[in-house]
Order: sequence, then C-alpha cells, then structure tokens
Amino acid sequence: MIAGHFGFAAVVKSRAPSVPTWLLMLATVWLDLVFAPLFIAGVETMKPLDAANPSAYGAVVIFADYTHSLLGALVISSLFAAVVAWRLGRNTGLVAGAVVFSHWVLDLPMHRHDMPLFPKNLGSLPRLGFGLWQWPTASAALELALVIVGAVLYWQAASRVAAPAGEAMIRRAKIVSAVLAVSGVVTLALNVVGL
Ligand SMILES: [Zn+2]
Repeated sequence: MIAGHFGFAAVVKSRAPSVPTWLLMLATVWLDLVFAPLFIAGVETMKPLDAANPSAYGAVVIFADYTHSLLGALVISSLFAAVVAWRLGRNTGLVAGAVVFSHWVLDLPMHRHDMPLFPKNLGSLPRLGFGLWQWPTASAALELALVIVGAVLYWQAASRVAAPAGEAMIRRAKIVSAVLAVSGVVTLALNVVGL
C-alpha cells in the first residue's frame, strides 16, 4: 500500500496546515523507506505468494520484522518526531511522528498476518495483520477512498486558506488538490497492475 498512505497524509495536511506537505508525505512512507535498505541488505524480506507474478497487488508476505513490528514502528516514529521537533518545533514533531506511526496502523488491516509485536518477532508471539489483501478489490477500494477523501479534504482546507489571498491562490489550491488526486490514483493503478 502506497497510495492510501499518501491519501492519509493529505487528510492530516487539511487538519494541520502549518506542517509542510513534503514532511507529511515523507513521514507517511518513512517505515517503507527504512525498509528499503534493510530489504536490500537481506535483513527484512518479502515472499511473493505467486512466484510467476511476484509483484501482484497485495499477494506478498512481508517479513519487515524491525520496521513493521509494533515496537520497531514506535521507536522509529519517536526518533522521527524527535528530529523534526528539534528542527521545526514540538508540535510539528508530534504530528510528524504520529503520521510515521499511522503507516503501521494503516498497514495492519492490509498485511497478511506478518506484522510482529516485537523486532525479530521476539517471543514468537502471533503476528498481526487482518489480511485484507486477500481481497484485492476491497483493499484497492479502501486505498482509493483514502486518496479521494484526502484530496477532497485538502481541497476544502486549501481553498479556505487561499480565498482571502485571491484568484491565483485559489487556482493553486485547486491544482495541488488535483495533482494529489491524480498521482494517488495513478500510484494505486500501477500498484494494482503489479508495476
Ligand atoms: Zn509498509
């Protein structure tokens, strides 16, 4: 899931307009960005369910045992929050840290029972994830809903802020909302067709 995370970031932007958009976009996928080098290093792994079609949407079990463990996600979110708070102030840090952790919360319904509580699945407790990816249409619809809700709320909030600033700013708010919606839908479409 990528598009859904960006959709959620747009929802947050509409509620916390002073937090920079780039920061929210970065925060929302931060766990996956930390996952990337660990994946390349072979520390975290992915197992496609269909070897013939390894990039099929949601057809994968992901052993991201550090970045996507509950404790790991909390630690990474706190570190992110601390760095942002140091540079951009306490409130921005708190919002950014919460958005980093929202990634874990939004992954929870999608993932196929592969998210451990503790790093390296310490204690071998049952893994979490409600497995909505077993029904790709339902999970894609949920992601699409997040993208649309995010773009609409962003548009409402942005046009409210832009209204007193005149026509040019209103036009800008419309363009940014449209870009958010279109890029979300395109990202989701590419994801669903397995690219
Ligand atoms: Zn993820």
